[in-house]
Amino acid sequence: MNDELLALIQLQETDQKIRQLRAEISALPKRLAALEEKLARQKTGVESATKAIKEEDAKRRRLESDLKDVQQKIAKFREQSSSVKTNEQFHAVQHEISFAEAEIAKIEDRELESMERSEQLEAGLRAAQQEFTDHTKVVELEKETARKSSEEQQKHLAGLNADRERLRGQIAETRLANYDRISGSKGTALAHVADQSCGACRMALRPQLWNQVRMGDLIPCESCGRLLYFDQELPPHPAE
Ligand SMILES: [Zn+2]
Repeated sequence: MNDELLALIQLQETDQKIRQLRAEISALPKRLAALEEKLARQKTGVESATKAIKEEDAKRRRLESDLKDVQQKIAKFREQSSSVKTNEQFHAVQHEISFAEAEIAKIEDRELESMERSEQLEAGLRAAQQEFTDHTKVVELEKETARKSSEEQQKHLAGLNADRERLRGQIAETRLANYDRISGSKGTALAHVADQSCGACRMALRPQLWNQVRMGDLIPCESCGRLLYFDQELPPHPAE
């Protein structure tokens, strides 16, 4: 295998690594944004749980004030009952009192239910706050890791770009233009021949073409147009 072909193969490998690395680099902000979104959702959860607790408290204060009103009513009825003249009036007031007492029992039941709801809401709030705190730590750590890995990725990318320039310097301009044109449209410009077929599109080579490729000529695949090369040292079934 001649040096130029070797440089071309290495150039393609380098270009693929660069492409993969660029994809990783551009995926990182998206991942961080997803983590931040989750954090924002949790914050909203904490806020709405806090609001629900306040609303439940306000509801209970209203019940408390209703209770006082009814208690005052009862006190008034008791006053009246001491000054009634007839048995009938006395029974009427007693009836009002027992009616009001039943109302108090109802209000007290509702207060109890409200207190139970508040307990549940507070437990929910504590859980939501814990989740938020935990996830805040996760996001901070992820950001720190992302910052470090992004520095490493940039260094790695700079190294690959330097390799790329060095390799391109070893290849004749017309071949390089051909490589750029094919890789620009196909993603890759070279295809390794295995089983007498193009390693990229799997089209079988005609015997004459196969002979030329085996002799070391870089010939375009008749199907996909990639430049075919043969390397005896490569396994017969490469994963291309
Ligand atoms: Zn092909």
